[in-house]
Amino acid sequence: MVAVGRPLERFDVPVPRIGERDVLVRVKAAGICHSDVHYRAGTSPVRPLPMTFGHEVAGVVEEAGASARDRLRPGDRVVLHYNITCGDCWFCSTGNEQFCPTGLMLGHFTDGGYAEYVGVPARNALILPPEIRFTEGATLMCASATSFHALRKSRIRAGERAAVFGVGGLGLSAVQLARAFGAVEVFAVDRREEQLELAASYSAVPVDASRLDPVAEIRRQTGGLGVDVALEMVGRALTMQQAIRCLAPMGRAVIVGIGSEPLSIDTYRELLGGEAEVIGSNDHLLQELPQLLEMARRGILDTSRVVTRTVPLDASAINDALDALERYEGGVRTVIVP
Ligand SMILES: [Zn+2]
Ligand SMILES: [Zn+2]
Repeated sequence: MVAVGRPLERFDVPVPRIGERDVLVRVKAAGICHSDVHYRAGTSPVRPLPMTFGHEVAGVVEEAGASARDRLRPGDRVVLHYNITCGDCWFCSTGNEQFCPTGLMLGHFTDGGYAEYVGVPARNALILPPEIRFTEGATLMCASATSFHALRKSRIRAGERAAVFGVGGLGLSAVQLARAFGAVEVFAVDRREEQLELAASYSAVPVDASRLDPVAEIRRQTGGLGVDVALEMVGRALTMQQAIRCLAPMGRAVIVGIGSEPLSIDTYRELLGGEAEVIGSNDHLLQELPQLLEMARRGILDTSRVVTRTVPLDASAINDALDALERYEGGVRTVIVP
Protein backbone atom coordinates (compact mmCIF):
# COMPACT_ATOMS: atom_id res chain seq x y z
CA MET A 1 0.00 0.00 0.00
CA VAL A 2 1.56 3.27 -1.10
CA ALA A 3 -1.33 5.71 -0.55
CA VAL A 4 -4.77 5.74 1.08
CA GLY A 5 -7.57 4.72 -1.24
CA ARG A 6 -5.21 3.65 -4.05
CA PRO A 7 -4.76 0.15 -5.47
CA LEU A 8 -1.87 -1.84 -4.00
CA GLU A 9 1.30 -1.80 -6.08
CA ARG A 10 4.07 -4.29 -6.62
CA PHE A 11 7.56 -3.35 -5.51
CA ASP A 12 10.82 -5.20 -5.26
CA VAL A 13 12.11 -4.81 -1.70
CA PRO A 14 15.07 -6.38 0.14
CA VAL A 15 14.56 -9.69 1.95
CA PRO A 16 13.86 -8.73 5.63
CA ARG A 17 16.90 -8.85 7.94
CA ILE A 18 16.28 -10.81 11.11
CA GLY A 19 17.69 -10.54 14.63
CA GLU A 20 18.83 -13.41 16.85
CA ARG A 21 15.33 -13.93 18.34
CA ASP A 22 13.60 -13.87 14.93
CA VAL A 23 12.84 -16.19 12.07
CA LEU A 24 12.73 -15.48 8.36
CA VAL A 25 9.77 -17.25 6.76
CA ARG A 26 9.31 -18.01 3.06
CA VAL A 27 5.60 -17.33 2.49
CA LYS A 28 3.55 -20.23 1.11
CA ALA A 29 0.10 -18.73 1.68
CA ALA A 30 -1.26 -15.33 2.73
CA GLY A 31 -4.97 -14.79 3.25
CA ILE A 32 -6.73 -11.75 1.79
CA CYS A 33 -8.91 -10.54 4.64
CA HIS A 34 -11.79 -8.09 4.86
CA SER A 35 -9.60 -6.06 7.24
CA ASP A 36 -7.25 -5.43 4.32
CA VAL A 37 -10.14 -3.76 2.47
CA HIS A 38 -10.51 -1.34 5.39
CA TYR A 39 -6.75 -0.71 5.45
CA ARG A 40 -6.60 0.03 1.71
CA ALA A 41 -9.64 2.33 1.91
CA GLY A 42 -8.22 4.22 4.89
CA THR A 43 -11.17 3.39 7.21
CA SER A 44 -8.58 1.68 9.43
CA PRO A 45 -5.32 3.69 9.35
CA VAL A 46 -2.12 1.98 8.21
CA ARG A 47 1.29 3.31 9.19
CA PRO A 48 3.97 3.75 8.06
CA LEU A 49 3.45 3.81 4.30
CA PRO A 50 4.45 2.08 2.13
CA MET A 51 3.23 -1.06 3.94
CA THR A 52 3.14 -4.70 2.86
CA PHE A 53 -0.23 -6.20 3.89
CA GLY A 54 -0.77 -9.79 4.98
CA HIS A 55 -1.60 -10.84 8.56
CA GLU A 56 -2.76 -14.40 7.75
CA VAL A 57 0.49 -16.13 6.92
CA ALA A 58 1.72 -19.69 6.54
CA GLY A 59 5.13 -20.65 5.22
CA VAL A 60 8.42 -22.42 5.72
CA VAL A 61 11.28 -21.30 7.97
CA GLU A 62 14.09 -20.09 5.73
CA GLU A 63 16.46 -18.96 8.47
CA ALA A 64 16.32 -18.94 12.29
CA GLY A 65 18.19 -16.46 14.51
CA ALA A 66 20.79 -17.85 16.94
CA SER A 67 18.50 -18.03 19.99
CA ALA A 68 15.56 -19.41 17.98
CA ARG A 69 17.37 -22.45 16.61
CA ASP A 70 16.54 -24.78 19.50
CA ARG A 71 12.86 -24.73 18.48
CA LEU A 72 12.75 -23.85 14.79
CA ARG A 73 14.88 -25.03 11.89
CA PRO A 74 15.00 -24.22 8.20
CA GLY A 75 12.32 -26.23 6.42
CA ASP A 76 9.85 -26.26 9.33
CA ARG A 77 6.24 -25.55 8.26
CA VAL A 78 4.87 -22.68 10.33
CA VAL A 79 1.92 -20.33 10.75
CA LEU A 80 2.32 -16.85 12.22
CA HIS A 81 0.53 -15.20 15.13
CA TYR A 82 -0.08 -11.69 13.78
CA ASN A 83 0.27 -9.68 16.98
CA ILE A 84 3.96 -8.86 17.20
CA THR A 85 4.46 -7.90 20.85
CA CYS A 86 7.40 -7.20 23.19
CA GLY A 87 7.05 -10.38 25.27
CA ASP A 88 8.20 -8.61 28.44
CA CYS A 89 5.65 -5.97 29.54
CA TRP A 90 2.85 -6.43 32.10
CA PHE A 91 0.30 -7.54 29.49
CA CYS A 92 2.68 -9.83 27.61
CA SER A 93 3.84 -11.54 30.78
CA THR A 94 0.27 -12.09 32.03
CA GLY A 95 -0.88 -13.75 28.80
CA ASN A 96 -2.88 -10.81 27.47
CA GLU A 97 -0.43 -9.65 24.85
CA GLN A 98 -3.14 -8.07 22.70
CA PHE A 99 -2.86 -5.06 25.04
CA CYS A 100 0.95 -4.75 24.74
CA PRO A 101 1.56 -0.99 24.42
CA THR A 102 4.29 -1.52 21.83
CA GLY A 103 2.45 -4.28 19.94
CA LEU A 104 2.40 -4.07 16.13
CA MET A 105 0.01 -6.05 13.98
CA LEU A 106 1.65 -7.88 11.10
CA GLY A 107 0.58 -6.48 7.72
CA HIS A 108 -0.94 -3.41 9.37
CA PHE A 109 1.85 -1.70 11.34
CA THR A 110 4.78 -3.88 10.24
CA ASP A 111 5.41 -5.53 6.87
CA GLY A 112 3.38 -8.72 6.41
CA GLY A 113 2.90 -11.67 4.12
CA TYR A 114 1.84 -10.27 0.74
CA ALA A 115 5.46 -11.01 -0.11
CA GLU A 116 7.89 -13.82 -0.70
CA TYR A 117 9.52 -13.44 2.73
CA VAL A 118 8.49 -12.10 6.12
CA GLY A 119 10.52 -11.76 9.31
CA VAL A 120 8.89 -12.17 12.76
CA PRO A 121 9.95 -12.94 16.35
CA ALA A 122 10.42 -16.69 16.63
CA ARG A 123 7.74 -16.98 19.33
CA ASN A 124 5.15 -15.75 16.79
CA ALA A 125 5.83 -18.82 14.62
CA LEU A 126 3.91 -22.00 15.47
CA ILE A 127 4.59 -25.35 13.87
CA LEU A 128 1.90 -26.18 11.28
CA PRO A 129 1.01 -29.89 11.47
CA PRO A 130 1.42 -31.78 8.17
CA GLU A 131 -2.32 -32.56 8.06
CA ILE A 132 -3.16 -28.87 7.54
CA ARG A 133 -2.51 -27.25 4.16
CA PHE A 134 -0.71 -23.89 4.02
CA THR A 135 -3.80 -22.11 2.63
CA GLU A 136 -5.97 -23.37 5.49
CA GLY A 137 -3.26 -22.69 8.06
CA ALA A 138 -3.12 -19.06 6.94
CA THR A 139 -6.83 -18.45 7.45
CA LEU A 140 -6.82 -20.27 10.80
CA MET A 141 -4.59 -17.46 12.10
CA CYS A 142 -7.28 -14.79 11.71
CA ALA A 143 -10.92 -15.77 11.35
CA SER A 144 -10.80 -19.11 13.18
CA ALA A 145 -8.56 -17.84 15.98
CA THR A 146 -10.77 -14.82 16.55
CA SER A 147 -13.85 -17.08 16.74
CA PHE A 148 -12.07 -19.35 19.19
CA HIS A 149 -11.23 -16.37 21.43
CA ALA A 150 -14.80 -15.04 21.23
CA LEU A 151 -16.20 -18.42 22.31
CA ARG A 152 -13.79 -18.52 25.25
CA LYS A 153 -14.93 -15.02 26.20
CA SER A 154 -18.57 -16.23 26.04
CA ARG A 155 -17.86 -18.92 28.67
CA ILE A 156 -20.07 -21.31 26.68
CA ARG A 157 -20.70 -24.61 28.45
CA ALA A 158 -21.78 -28.06 27.36
CA GLY A 159 -25.52 -28.28 26.78
CA GLU A 160 -26.04 -24.61 25.93
CA ARG A 161 -27.46 -23.11 22.74
CA ALA A 162 -25.69 -20.57 20.57
CA ALA A 163 -26.44 -18.25 17.66
CA VAL A 164 -23.89 -16.83 15.24
CA PHE A 165 -24.83 -13.62 13.42
CA GLY A 166 -22.88 -13.46 10.17
CA VAL A 167 -21.45 -16.71 8.83
CA GLY A 168 -18.58 -15.48 6.66
CA GLY A 169 -14.98 -16.40 7.39
CA LEU A 170 -15.33 -15.98 11.16
CA GLY A 171 -18.84 -17.35 11.49
CA LEU A 172 -18.18 -20.60 9.64
CA SER A 173 -15.43 -21.38 12.14
CA ALA A 174 -17.61 -20.20 15.01
CA VAL A 175 -20.50 -22.56 14.22
CA GLN A 176 -18.13 -25.54 14.23
CA LEU A 177 -16.18 -24.44 17.30
CA ALA A 178 -19.39 -23.73 19.24
CA ARG A 179 -20.35 -27.39 18.75
CA ALA A 180 -16.86 -28.46 19.80
CA PHE A 181 -17.22 -26.32 22.95
CA GLY A 182 -20.38 -28.30 23.76
CA ALA A 183 -23.29 -26.36 22.27
CA VAL A 184 -26.22 -28.66 21.54
CA GLU A 185 -27.72 -26.37 18.90
CA VAL A 186 -26.18 -23.53 16.89
CA PHE A 187 -28.24 -21.08 14.82
CA ALA A 188 -26.52 -19.45 11.84
CA VAL A 189 -28.02 -16.09 10.89
CA ASP A 190 -27.16 -14.52 7.54
CA ARG A 191 -28.80 -13.06 4.45
CA ARG A 192 -26.65 -14.93 1.90
CA GLU A 193 -28.02 -18.26 0.71
CA GLU A 194 -24.59 -19.73 -0.09
CA GLN A 195 -23.29 -18.92 3.39
CA LEU A 196 -26.38 -20.37 5.06
CA GLU A 197 -25.99 -23.59 3.08
CA LEU A 198 -22.34 -23.88 4.11
CA ALA A 199 -23.24 -23.27 7.77
CA ALA A 200 -26.01 -25.88 7.54
CA SER A 201 -23.50 -28.39 6.17
CA TYR A 202 -21.64 -27.94 9.49
CA SER A 203 -24.86 -28.83 11.39
CA ALA A 204 -25.95 -25.26 12.13
CA VAL A 205 -29.64 -24.37 11.92
CA PRO A 206 -29.85 -21.74 9.13
CA VAL A 207 -31.90 -18.59 9.77
CA ASP A 208 -32.34 -16.46 6.64
CA ALA A 209 -32.51 -12.87 7.87
CA SER A 210 -33.53 -11.66 4.40
CA ARG A 211 -36.89 -13.44 4.86
CA LEU A 212 -37.37 -13.79 8.63
CA ASP A 213 -36.94 -11.76 11.80
CA PRO A 214 -34.04 -13.72 13.33
CA VAL A 215 -35.01 -12.90 16.93
CA ALA A 216 -38.58 -14.18 16.48
CA GLU A 217 -37.37 -17.22 14.56
CA ILE A 218 -34.77 -18.20 17.18
CA ARG A 219 -37.37 -17.73 19.95
CA ARG A 220 -39.86 -19.83 17.99
CA GLN A 221 -37.36 -22.65 17.46
CA THR A 222 -36.27 -22.67 21.13
CA GLY A 223 -39.76 -22.75 22.60
CA GLY A 224 -39.53 -19.07 23.52
CA LEU A 225 -36.34 -19.52 25.55
CA GLY A 226 -33.65 -17.99 23.31
CA VAL A 227 -29.95 -18.84 23.22
CA ASP A 228 -27.33 -18.80 25.96
CA VAL A 229 -24.64 -17.34 23.74
CA ALA A 230 -24.95 -15.06 20.70
CA LEU A 231 -21.88 -14.09 18.67
CA GLU A 232 -22.18 -10.95 16.55
CA MET A 233 -19.72 -11.04 13.64
CA VAL A 234 -21.20 -8.42 11.32
CA GLY A 235 -20.37 -5.13 13.02
CA ARG A 236 -23.78 -3.45 12.62
CA ALA A 237 -25.94 -2.01 15.41
CA LEU A 238 -28.97 -3.91 14.06
CA THR A 239 -27.32 -7.33 14.33
CA MET A 240 -25.84 -6.43 17.73
CA GLN A 241 -29.35 -5.62 18.97
CA GLN A 242 -30.68 -8.86 17.50
CA ALA A 243 -27.89 -10.80 19.23
CA ILE A 244 -28.86 -9.26 22.57
CA ARG A 245 -32.62 -9.70 22.02
CA CYS A 246 -32.40 -13.42 21.24
CA LEU A 247 -30.67 -14.21 24.57
CA ALA A 248 -32.14 -16.53 27.19
CA PRO A 249 -31.95 -15.41 30.85
CA MET A 250 -28.28 -15.12 31.88
CA GLY A 251 -27.27 -15.16 28.21
CA ARG A 252 -24.06 -13.63 26.87
CA ALA A 253 -23.80 -11.62 23.66
CA VAL A 254 -20.24 -11.33 22.37
CA ILE A 255 -19.56 -8.46 19.98
CA VAL A 256 -16.85 -9.39 17.48
CA GLY A 257 -17.85 -7.51 14.31
CA ILE A 258 -16.05 -4.21 13.88
CA GLY A 259 -18.23 -1.15 13.50
CA SER A 260 -18.72 2.26 15.01
CA GLU A 261 -22.50 2.66 15.05
CA PRO A 262 -23.86 3.55 18.51
CA LEU A 263 -25.76 0.69 20.13
CA SER A 264 -28.99 1.33 21.99
CA ILE A 265 -30.31 -1.11 24.59
CA ASP A 266 -33.49 -1.21 26.64
CA THR A 267 -31.52 -1.57 29.86
CA TYR A 268 -34.29 -3.17 31.93
CA ARG A 269 -35.82 -5.56 29.40
CA GLU A 270 -32.67 -6.47 27.51
CA LEU A 271 -29.87 -6.24 30.06
CA LEU A 272 -30.45 -6.31 33.81
CA GLY A 273 -33.90 -7.94 33.80
CA GLY A 274 -32.49 -11.20 32.42
CA GLU A 275 -28.98 -10.67 33.81
CA ALA A 276 -27.67 -10.54 30.26
CA GLU A 277 -24.04 -9.75 29.51
CA VAL A 278 -22.67 -7.86 26.52
CA ILE A 279 -19.00 -8.73 26.03
CA GLY A 280 -16.45 -7.20 23.67
CA SER A 281 -13.96 -9.54 22.01
CA ASN A 282 -10.95 -8.49 19.97
CA ASP A 283 -8.35 -10.59 18.16
CA HIS A 284 -7.01 -13.65 19.98
CA LEU A 285 -4.05 -14.81 22.03
CA LEU A 286 -0.88 -16.70 21.21
CA GLN A 287 -1.71 -19.19 23.98
CA GLU A 288 -4.99 -20.13 22.22
CA LEU A 289 -3.35 -21.11 18.94
CA PRO A 290 -1.88 -24.52 19.86
CA GLN A 291 -5.34 -25.82 20.84
CA LEU A 292 -6.90 -24.32 17.71
CA LEU A 293 -4.27 -25.98 15.49
CA GLU A 294 -4.88 -29.30 17.24
CA MET A 295 -8.62 -29.03 16.62
CA ALA A 296 -7.95 -28.30 12.95
CA ARG A 297 -5.44 -31.15 12.69
CA ARG A 298 -8.05 -33.57 14.05
CA GLY A 299 -10.74 -32.27 11.70
CA ILE A 300 -12.91 -31.00 14.57
CA LEU A 301 -12.58 -27.66 12.82
CA ASP A 302 -12.80 -28.04 9.03
CA THR A 303 -11.70 -25.04 6.98
CA SER A 304 -11.18 -26.95 3.73
CA ARG A 305 -14.18 -25.24 2.13
CA VAL A 306 -13.36 -21.78 3.45
CA VAL A 307 -10.55 -21.12 0.97
CA THR A 308 -12.47 -20.83 -2.26
CA ARG A 309 -9.81 -19.29 -4.50
CA THR A 310 -6.07 -18.77 -4.74
CA VAL A 311 -4.25 -16.01 -6.64
CA PRO A 312 -0.54 -15.47 -7.38
CA LEU A 313 1.52 -12.68 -5.80
CA ASP A 314 0.29 -10.22 -8.40
CA ALA A 315 -0.92 -6.71 -7.61
CA SER A 316 -3.82 -6.63 -10.03
CA ALA A 317 -5.11 -10.06 -8.97
CA ILE A 318 -4.86 -9.00 -5.31
CA ASN A 319 -6.62 -5.68 -5.96
CA ASP A 320 -9.38 -7.55 -7.81
CA ALA A 321 -9.82 -9.85 -4.79
CA LEU A 322 -9.97 -6.83 -2.44
CA ASP A 323 -12.52 -5.15 -4.76
CA ALA A 324 -14.68 -8.29 -4.65
CA LEU A 325 -14.50 -8.37 -0.85
CA GLU A 326 -15.47 -4.71 -0.76
CA ARG A 327 -18.62 -5.66 -2.70
CA TYR A 328 -19.15 -8.72 -0.41
CA GLU A 329 -18.51 -11.05 -3.37
CA GLY A 330 -15.77 -13.47 -4.24
CA GLY A 331 -16.54 -16.52 -2.11
CA VAL A 332 -15.43 -16.92 1.48
CA ARG A 333 -11.67 -16.51 1.27
CA THR A 334 -9.05 -15.82 -1.36
CA VAL A 335 -5.48 -16.74 -0.49
CA ILE A 336 -2.29 -15.54 -2.16
CA VAL A 337 0.06 -18.38 -3.06
CA PRO A 338 3.37 -16.78 -4.12
ZN1 LIG B 1 -7.67 -11.35 8.75
ZN1 LIG C 1 4.37 -6.34 25.65
